[in-house]
Amino acid sequence: MSLKFLVDSMHGYVAKWLRIMGYDTLYLNTVDDENIVQLALNGRILVTSDDELAKIAERKGVEVVLTKGLTEEEVLRLLVERFKLVFQKDSLRCTVCNGELEPLPPEEAEKNPEAPKNVDLLWRCKVCGKLYWRGSHWRNISRQILNLTGSKP
Ligand SMILES: [Zn+2]
Repeated sequence: MSLKFLVDSMHGYVAKWLRIMGYDTLYLNTVDDENIVQLALNGRILVTSDDELAKIAERKGVEVVLTKGLTEEEVLRLLVERFKLVFQKDSLRCTVCNGELEPLPPEEAEKNPEAPKNVDLLWRCKVCGKLYWRGSHWRNISRQILNLTGSKP
């Protein structure tokens, strides 16, 4: 069972990278008591810079990572180290909506006007339909993942 996260609204960057690495990550603007109980039930790890919220959540049995005073980059690094996160190439997630990505067969890709030509692998978000491929931005993603996890994606 893969780890699941909920990050507070201060951590959009962290949420994006957790999703790129394939982790189910919710990103919420507000976290109220009811959400916290749900987190505990679903085993989601709460990542927050709010120490009041952290206290309440811990009291209800939620695993919490308190990020007060850390930069986004430091938070991401902390999560990777503490939970031994890796790039999960078989369970990629949409950076926009957290939906799962599915590989798109080449014949469907050819029919799709939004799809770029000359890419061998294409994925589609099962929820919002956004297309993903390894374009020029992949080099930066790859470098960041190597930098974070110590292994190439
Ligand atoms: Zn999506």
